[in-house]
Amino acid sequence: MNKAEVLIIEDEAQIRKLLEITLESNDFIVNQATTAKEGIVMAASHPPAIIILDLGLPDEDGQSVLKKLRQWYTHPIIILSVQNGEEDIIRALDAGANDYLTKPFRTGELVARMRSALRARPGQESNPLFSCAGLDVDFALRTVKKDNELLKLTATEYTLLALFVKNEGKVLTHHYLLREVWGPGYISQSQYLRVFIAQLRKKIEANPNRPEFLVTESGIGYRFVGKD
Ligand code: CA
Repeated sequence: MNKAEVLIIEDEAQIRKLLEITLESNDFIVNQATTAKEGIVMAASHPPAIIILDLGLPDEDGQSVLKKLRQWYTHPIIILSVQNGEEDIIRALDAGANDYLTKPFRTGELVARMRSALRARPGQESNPLFSCAGLDVDFALRTVKKDNELLKLTATEYTLLALFVKNEGKVLTHHYLLREVWGPGYISQSQYLRVFIAQLRKKIEANPNRPEFLVTESGIGYRFVGKD
């Protein structure tokens, strides 16, 4: 198995050390930058498979670093945020970050999210079929089956589910979902989203109260988890 290279852009030495130990023991090759400037140069000269970006950097706002990276870097970016930083997290996800972790984070969670981000390859939306854990989506026919039974979904339910499936593993913010499914005028209508998420869960989840496909990211949005 080829080892994936990861670039950590983080000014706190203790966190860099923790990440280095965790990721090297999980078969990643770890490169480190301590400032935004250094990180951008390293990413450009030797693009890694994935970037971990701290939003609080000494020389430049992490949001601005993210925007610069996203002008050309298409691989996953996972951001690190401080606690109660929901607004920053939402901004970063909407600006193209794939996922986030709040400090202090569990290292197992970080590795799981990195693997999930690396699995979801860009371009998989061109695949006309999705199949996972008894859930089958046919994007050409716009049909969804659960355990081989055709589900009756409304047009909006289908659009919402297809958006999640095409972004498997990625956190989608409330604003993003409302804008993509209902349109730019609806980004504050989060009650629409709650209603449709509940309806979808009733149809696709084994237990809608303990969802395994459509997971809530509290205060941020939702994530579709493709189970192996
Ligand atoms: Ca920091």
